[in-house]
Amino acid sequence: MLREIVEEIEKIVGKEGIAKNVEDYLYDETPKRVRPKAAEDVVVVKPKRSEEVSKILKLANEKKVPVVVRGGGTGLSGGAIPLSPGIVLSMERMNKLEIDTENLVAVCEAGVTLRQLLEEIDKIPGLSFPPHPGHEGAQIGGLVANNAGGARAVKYGIMRNYVLGMEVVLPSGEILNLGGKVIKNVTGYDLMHLLIGSEGTLAVITKVVLKLIPEPGGTYTLVVPFERTEDAIKTVPQILRSGIVPLAIEYMDVEAVKAGEAVTGKRWPYEGGEAHLMIIVEGRDEDELLKVSEDIEKLAKKNNAIDVFVGVSRKEQRDLLDIRSLIYEGMRDVTVDLLDVSVPIASIPEYVTKCKKFAEEVGIKVLHYGHAGDGNVHQHILEVDDWEEKYPKFKNYAFGLVKKLGGYITAEHGVGVVKKEDMYSTLPQKAVELMKEIKRIFDPNNILNPGKVVDV
Ligand SMILES: Cc1cc2nc3c(=O)[nH]c(=O)nc-3n(C[C@H](O)[C@H](O)[C@H](O)COP(=O)(O)OP(=O)(O)OC[C@H]3O[C@@H](n4cnc5c(N)ncnc54)[C@H](O)[C@@H]3O)c2cc1C
Repeated sequence: MLREIVEEIEKIVGKEGIAKNVEDYLYDETPKRVRPKAAEDVVVVKPKRSEEVSKILKLANEKKVPVVVRGGGTGLSGGAIPLSPGIVLSMERMNKLEIDTENLVAVCEAGVTLRQLLEEIDKIPGLSFPPHPGHEGAQIGGLVANNAGGARAVKYGIMRNYVLGMEVVLPSGEILNLGGKVIKNVTGYDLMHLLIGSEGTLAVITKVVLKLIPEPGGTYTLVVPFERTEDAIKTVPQILRSGIVPLAIEYMDVEAVKAGEAVTGKRWPYEGGEAHLMIIVEGRDEDELLKVSEDIEKLAKKNNAIDVFVGVSRKEQRDLLDIRSLIYEGMRDVTVDLLDVSVPIASIPEYVTKCKKFAEEVGIKVLHYGHAGDGNVHQHILEVDDWEEKYPKFKNYAFGLVKKLGGYITAEHGVGVVKKEDMYSTLPQKAVELMKEIKRIFDPNNILNPGKVVDV
């Protein structure tokens, strides 16, 4: 069947719209030991216009051929991995970007990368796009399809909070516009927000209107090491309760810091301690930045912080952020899995300390780090002997605890294929049934990203 439609696809996108290096499009950044095996019998199609996407989906729907949309391939839940022979629809050539300074919006084709967007906005004084999910190679379509978060969510929210409008192509090939350059819109059910976070299972996102905001003030980046994990973690809700809302509060086990140092070749200001906080504060001027930093220092020292180091220059701050952002990169080879749970912020200390204790009991090595300011804890499971036997016990325990604390098994990486069973076992059954119904309405032939999020 696939061979039969390749000729027809070529008529739609031309020869240059079909990739030869198929192997580069089969996997994403999901840890190797838990990701599924990709189907290799796929045709990789690179459309340039929404009309081409429409024609490809219409054809695939008629022939009932699976279509997996691929953004930057930086996903961590296997969402972009094709599970059966079919079409991989790579959005990389749909990368036009327009900044509308009158309406404070960026209109991005889905294949615009986060890096491209940030570089473009940098050229326009006074405007900014605050969300910064860790990998700048991610595409806007992928970030919206995953409702990505990142370190700055604590103050500025997540992707969903910046999407004003969207053009999507439905599995039938119909092109649908939702929202627009408007801030407010309650006209009927909010289909746009239903599609945000739908992980390529309901529609292909081809264009996104993103809200921009006036550029915030300057920043300082504080590094605060602690001898004890409990002291570091309990400082987080205390900072938030004190009325300070930092741009980011990141928690890191010291081993995680070392992994980030090793991969970047950059130095963290303090080697010792058990756990570190990295806090990015924002202020209109130097005085405000100093005042906020001092307030945090007082609070942290009351909780036995070893010291407080302040990164002031752009370079110092960039280096610290790089070390934090590349932790995953630094541990890729020894990683079994990466969990990204979401718990109420006041429950972080209980969650982390109980998980650490249980990990020790079952003999598994887990590093904790993450966006502590918004309750998003990353747990990096490292390879040990017999991990195949030990890790499921740990995951069961951790997800059981998450549920008990009123949290969720994924805060930003998505369900994809690797968390599907965990979602089934932790969400109310009725919620899963409704999701399946929604999938059937949008995609009656189950051609879009089959086997991801929900099975129908
Ligand atoms: C080092 C590193 C750091 C990261 N840090 C963060 C972080 O801080 N916060 C965070 O949230 N995530 C983070 N991620 C995860 C990842 O960057 C996000 O999940 C991102 O949203 C994926 O975007 P992508 O373009 O790479 O999508 P892909 O990986 O290509 O695809 C992801 C999913 O989106 C679907 N999709 C992609 N494009 C479209 C489209 N146009 N229309 C419909 N569906 C589409 C795919 O089918 C798939 O299901 C990190 C990843 C890495 C490797």
